[in-house]
Amino acid sequence: MVTDILRRLVLGKKEKFIFKGYNDGLINFNNIDKDIGIYIHIPFCKTICPYCPYNKVLYKKDKAKEYKNALLKELILYKDKLADKSINSIYIGGGTPTLLVDELTEVIEYIKEKFNFNKDIGIEIYPTEVNNKLLKKLKKIGITLISLGVQTFDNDKLKFLGRDYTKKDIEKSIKLIKEYDFKCLDVDIMTNIPGQAINDIEYDLKKAYSYDIDQISIYPLIVFPMTNMDRVIKEKKLTRFNEFKEKKILNIIDKISNKYGYKRNSVWTYGKNDDIRYTSVTRESFIGIGAGASSLFRNFFYLNTFNLEEYIKIVNKDKLPINIVNVMSEKEKMIFWLFWRCYDGVIDKERFRKLFNKDMEKEFKLLFLTMKLFNIAKWKDSKVILTNWGRYIYHYIEKQYSIHYLNKVWERSMKEPWIDKLTL
Ligand code: SF4
Repeated sequence: MVTDILRRLVLGKKEKFIFKGYNDGLINFNNIDKDIGIYIHIPFCKTICPYCPYNKVLYKKDKAKEYKNALLKELILYKDKLADKSINSIYIGGGTPTLLVDELTEVIEYIKEKFNFNKDIGIEIYPTEVNNKLLKKLKKIGITLISLGVQTFDNDKLKFLGRDYTKKDIEKSIKLIKEYDFKCLDVDIMTNIPGQAINDIEYDLKKAYSYDIDQISIYPLIVFPMTNMDRVIKEKKLTRFNEFKEKKILNIIDKISNKYGYKRNSVWTYGKNDDIRYTSVTRESFIGIGAGASSLFRNFFYLNTFNLEEYIKIVNKDKLPINIVNVMSEKEKMIFWLFWRCYDGVIDKERFRKLFNKDMEKEFKLLFLTMKLFNIAKWKDSKVILTNWGRYIYHYIEKQYSIHYLNKVWERSMKEPWIDKLTL
């Protein structure tokens, strides 16, 4: 119901969003932006966390090589389409991407050789993966941005989350990564884990900042209905913070971060330096490579098949592994863009005008009027900046978006390798 109201309020439409099964001609690849990012999905993990909604399978060594060959094949399929483009970033996520570090070396070398790229490369790391050998390899490939999935320094909570390491392992890995002097070390911290007290969150934050890292990504555990965590919480009747407490937590996070000299640079991230940021989700356009990867450019948003076997099979037939496509209307594209700018915490009116040749406040009168009336944002020159209250509202919307939209798309994609039609 919430999503229905939002769709009507923002887009003024009652029709649902439609993803169509991919067929040739549905996407106009000539429209790929001149500057575009690449996302590479590595869907292998050594253990599976019960709260995880992402596309992943248990790691098998022999599959890794097959998967790498498929990634190269997919890149070849994009070679002509990206020939005159400038690749402005590469992010590698998963899964646990470093499990395939040797395979990734080959993939990155291929991109450097065949495409126009010499920018930053970001990768997610699981704490137990960190060692000198791995870090040397990452440096050699050209990785500059690291996101370390810490979640919490509390051993019991780590166990509950199915994370296979302890506080000691985290400390060791952060210290070692810092020796290698990457451009950005981001640490992921999770809040609202069942049984967590506000003191525990304060401890995790202070502990993370004590290592003088570059960025912290701090976000609440979103329990996707499709995950085992949802079942566990319901069965064991575990309690979590309510919306009111979550708002209080956001204020505490702000206070502690500022005290340590970190400024909020998006709804969920705080950085020491404005120029360096690990930000895989806020890029305006990107091509996703791998099983379950998504792509976005102009008015096309599409997802590859999540199924590993089908992914490998289809690229070996020299076909793109695209499963479903949402061809956005101009208005939907605008709102998609605004959604991610709200995540950044700042909406630049001039950028909107440049991209869409329109005045965003005229285009979304009701939305911006609501933002003004309810103090969701404040206006400064050509920027619309989310207030603390606005940030809380965004948190709420993001949660609804994850539970009602993403959960539906990902759950179905995990069950069906090829989908004919999906309405949301
Ligand atoms: S390590 Fe990350 S991707 Fe793998 S199961 Fe856990 S949360 Fe999911």
